[in-house]
Amino acid sequence: MKKNYLLPVYSKYDVKFKYGDGSYLFDNNGFKYIDLLGGIAVNIFGYNDFEINNAIINQISQYTHLSNLFEIELQNIVAEKLATLSNLDYVFFTNSGTEANEAAIKFARAWGHDKNKYKIIAFNGSFHGRTYGSLSATGQSKFWNKFEPILDGFVFADFNNFDSVLEVYDEKVCAIMLEPIQGESGIVVADKEFLEKVYNFCKEKNILLIVDEIQAGMGRTGKFFAYQNYNIQPDIVTLAKGIANGLPLGATISSKEVGDFLQPGMHGSTFGGNPVALAVANVVLKKLNHKLLERNIKVGKELKDKIKSIETKYIKEVRGMGLMIGIEFTDEKNAKEIAKELLKNHLVVGTSGDKILRLLPPYKISFNDIDKFVRILEKILDYK
Ligand code: PLP
Repeated sequence: MKKNYLLPVYSKYDVKFKYGDGSYLFDNNGFKYIDLLGGIAVNIFGYNDFEINNAIINQISQYTHLSNLFEIELQNIVAEKLATLSNLDYVFFTNSGTEANEAAIKFARAWGHDKNKYKIIAFNGSFHGRTYGSLSATGQSKFWNKFEPILDGFVFADFNNFDSVLEVYDEKVCAIMLEPIQGESGIVVADKEFLEKVYNFCKEKNILLIVDEIQAGMGRTGKFFAYQNYNIQPDIVTLAKGIANGLPLGATISSKEVGDFLQPGMHGSTFGGNPVALAVANVVLKKLNHKLLERNIKVGKELKDKIKSIETKYIKEVRGMGLMIGIEFTDEKNAKEIAKELLKNHLVVGTSGDKILRLLPPYKISFNDIDKFVRILEKILDYK
């Protein structure tokens, strides 16, 4: 048997894709698949997008990398757009989501340093990444398992339970960090009252609110940032995944007050803010217009309603916002088995654990393809 040289940290689906086009993937045998996963919320404009391809080609003919010692105009252009969209002031570019959160944690601690505040309240069920800072803010011990001890200074409250925030708060806390929709733990949407109470509490105690928009942001919920569905204003926002439609890019956006604590040399990255990734981000931001965001709400609603209308005893709950949808099954069904079955029927979906199917499709997905997905899911649930 052929030796596998890849570190075995991923379990892979039994399919080999050759290329993608729009919201479709094509395997080695030429079969076409409807993509409802979008590279896990990354390929928001799907595959082989003409404007994105052109932006990449134009940029690589200039330079692919310069280093952050030199001015890269695209960084300024994209930073201005992100700061304006979030009503914040500074942007630090990274290569991934975990690095964006790592920077957010460092910036919050830099802000809290002279105030003798360093603790961060995070939430059970959260996912913020795999590097030590982000991992330590991740409220799911299965991700720390064997990697302990995690970093000091992280305490956990229960998501959607404001009283539990009060229980873990003390005067050493510098920030509260959360996802407006917990993605990895199965699409758990923050209640409006909860999130707004957390925000008001941050204001009252003069501590920072860090919002991780890595999975839910970039227009997926119908607002540019998912937190914009609530009456809140974070001090730090993190982005990655869809920001450059598949090229590695992340961003940590902060208020002036937080950013002013950072001086040259205090943080950095060799590759962070790569010009090719930024050329794509610039196009992505141009393409994400109001009409498209409205469409995400409409398509998402249709998808959710259609799934809810499936007559089956096996679906426990359908939840989410816009094009970020989770389907929770009853104990009789295993989501991973259903995902495999869907793949055999040329439908690509994701899962969260054994019980939840996760849908994060490209924004180009058609109403027709949603219909097909629902019909096939219905059939699989009936016969499996
Ligand atoms: N934060 C959230 C909400 C995520 O969903 C993820 C990835 O799934 C991350 C952070 C980590 O991002 P990355 O895998 O790019 O490091």
